Amino acid sequence: MSTKLLDTLFPVAFSHSMMQSVWGCEMKFFRQHCQRLTTGHARSSDLIAGGHFAKACEIVRKSFYNDNLSIDNSIELGYNSIIESEDTGDYIKSNRRLAICLKKHFKLFPLDNNLAPVKLANGEHAIEYAFDFELGIEHPDIPGTSIRYKGLLDGLYEKTHLGKRVGTYVVDEKTCSSVFRVSGTKIVDIAKEEDKYKTEGQMIGYHWAARQLGLKPTGTLIYKIPLTKDFEPSFCLEIPINDYLVDIWSATLCNKIEELKDKYLFYKNIEHQPHYSFYPALTDSACVSYGRRCSFTDGCRYKGEDVMAMTHEQRIWDSTSKRDYTLKEYKQLKGIK
Ligand code: SF4
Repeated sequence: MSTKLLDTLFPVAFSHSMMQSVWGCEMKFFRQHCQRLTTGHARSSDLIAGGHFAKACEIVRKSFYNDNLSIDNSIELGYNSIIESEDTGDYIKSNRRLAICLKKHFKLFPLDNNLAPVKLANGEHAIEYAFDFELGIEHPDIPGTSIRYKGLLDGLYEKTHLGKRVGTYVVDEKTCSSVFRVSGTKIVDIAKEEDKYKTEGQMIGYHWAARQLGLKPTGTLIYKIPLTKDFEPSFCLEIPINDYLVDIWSATLCNKIEELKDKYLFYKNIEHQPHYSFYPALTDSACVSYGRRCSFTDGCRYKGEDVMAMTHEQRIWDSTSKRDYTLKEYKQLKGIK
């Protein structure tokens, strides 16, 4: 079998989900985010449902806070957006059941409570705030360009008590199909639920982003919305995040990206097969996730890169032009060698 190597482009921007891929299996990260290999597989119903719910929450909050619509009209717009979106393809997470959960959630946690989104310099509220900051690490393929870290914050909110601000919080809404229970009961185990997020990279990354904006949130409020057959009520978790945690998170992030860059340059300069630089994890937890086998399995099972070239395409999504390109087209367009 041929040992011809495939074209690559190191990520220009990292995100939380990319780092999850890095921590799970570096080879998977390399296949997905450097070789840009894709099979165009359909998304899971969990992802589709989570996306619909997040979009609806954004619509509700922007309608209420930015456009000054009434609570009922704002919630109705969010409800309709779920009903009119792509079918989730799942009975428990059907569009109608999701839309009902949305109404129940905003009834339990009303919009006109003591929590309101921070107002940004442009007059809009910090709802669905897309951040994108340079890390000061030079890109290995594009000289003079810094690698960035980007993400999307559900919201930055201020909590008030008797008209006075008592804290600023990162707010995140998460749909889930199961929750921790107090042993032998149906009661949600809040302590265990909170434990789960105390060192969660996504939340710490949001606090890092807030600090880049000159804000210092007190903690994170996570609204969890169970999507179960019994329409269980949503609940709120409060997770404190301190400076130390943010500092070690950002040091770890930068160190890991530097390490990946070194491995990438070694791979390109030595022209060896990728597993000499990016080690395949070959574990049950990395190779099968949420019941789905990793789509790059055959690249680990057979020597050479031909099997990947035959079964996958090299494509890249350009968020600026909102267009999908082949990797070759994209590099030509941007003048990347
Ligand atoms: S099959 Fe397993 S080891 Fe190979 S790339 Fe996928 S996750 Fe990594």
